[in-house]
Amino acid sequence: MAAADDPWDTAADPNNPPTDQLPIGVGNSRGARWAPEGGAWSDLDHARRVVSEATRILVLTGAGISTDSGIPDFRGPQGVWTRDPEAERLSSIDSFVADPAVRRRAWQVRLASPVDAAEPNAGHLALVELERRGVLELLVTQNIDGLHVQAGHSPALVVEIHGTTREAVCLHCAARWPMDEILTRVRAGDDDPHCTEPMGSGPAGTGTAGTGTAGTGTAGTGTAGTGTAGAGAERACGGLVKAATISFGQPLVAADLERAERAALRCDLILAVGSTLSVHPAASLVPTAERAGAAVVIVNGGPTAMDGLADAVVHGPISHVLPALVGHRSSDRTSDSTSPVGDHRGPCGR
Ligand SMILES: [Zn+2]
Repeated sequence: MAAADDPWDTAADPNNPPTDQLPIGVGNSRGARWAPEGGAWSDLDHARRVVSEATRILVLTGAGISTDSGIPDFRGPQGVWTRDPEAERLSSIDSFVADPAVRRRAWQVRLASPVDAAEPNAGHLALVELERRGVLELLVTQNIDGLHVQAGHSPALVVEIHGTTREAVCLHCAARWPMDEILTRVRAGDDDPHCTEPMGSGPAGTGTAGTGTAGTGTAGTGTAGTGTAGAGAERACGGLVKAATISFGQPLVAADLERAERAALRCDLILAVGSTLSVHPAASLVPTAERAGAAVVIVNGGPTAMDGLADAVVHGPISHVLPALVGHRSSDRTSDSTSPVGDHRGPCGR
């Protein structure tokens, strides 16, 4: 898209600053919102000011930030689960554990998934800029695509509360592998992979396991897995192997939630991006932060459940809005290691 055709690009151009006619200031227009066609310039300008003044930003992201990377939104009107309820069944831990056919189908779907080939887009990269400036308190994502870390964030500042498809995990002993290792086995014909770690040598002390990605849920799981594999592999764990995502029916990781909540209480701005803010507990971070005195900025393709709480709401294409909001400058980059930079920065980068 040419810059001249792109209102978001124009609005963010430092040489062509937006009009500044509204008597706006941080915190004094809570509840106000503008539709893009009705006054997005003012709204984006206000949001930019709030972001530029913040020093401890909690970012919360949902599926909307990854759709421009080619990853489908699972729950939207055109979502995968909406169109194919069987796909949702594949994401239920009970079905996965109970039914080898579901596991085999899940692995075949995984092999064909667009997620693993996806690249971060300009929206992901703009958020990295916040970390580079030292104002990112924490990034909490509902996404399982791993694109925030791939975009360049320090893993220590990213909480993937629904897990990640970039790794696989044993449901019995909590051993983890890069997803590629397991997919290689599946491609080679191991269509329902089980854990090959020696029995009893699992990484019980590694911490990730301790917090119980699947803590309680795994007890039964492990039994099922061991039962299946026990005969031929006395010394192997034999537990079921699954993508390291939180499936329906699995508890979230308590330590991750606590970290997110602490950040909500400590931040001076919560920036919610690409989420309808209807899935709790992640969505609850917004009112938690707001009550604790933080400013609230919401960026999404459409209305969210919490627009009324926000100081500024920007409805628009996220991969365009975020670079405009953050004032991403290509000359400030510290690293060129992420290949999509050049491809995606074009229309909005500066
Ligand atoms: Zn295991």
